[in-house]
Amino acid sequence: MNRDVRIDSASGIIVLGWKSGAEGLFLRVRGHAEDVRLVCRCGRSHWLVREQFSGGIVSLSVTCHSCGTRGTFGMEGVKLPTP
Ligand SMILES: [Zn+2]
Repeated sequence: MNRDVRIDSASGIIVLGWKSGAEGLFLRVRGHAEDVRLVCRCGRSHWLVREQFSGGIVSLSVTCHSCGTRGTFGMEGVKLPTP
């Protein structure tokens, strides 16, 4: 069973991992035992996901496929890609 989290109430979460599938985007979030599904304001949960590496800090940037709503979350425990 998964918990849905709305993008508007997701600010400040720390993402430990993510996976995208037919059901939507699932995030492993610090402090949550189970994965949560990220739901947009428009009710959809399909996101364009990008990991951004900048100055040793990793963040996860998401954009809704349907309405273009964006969000950015901090990430933790992600290894930088090896050259
Ligand atoms: Zn949307």
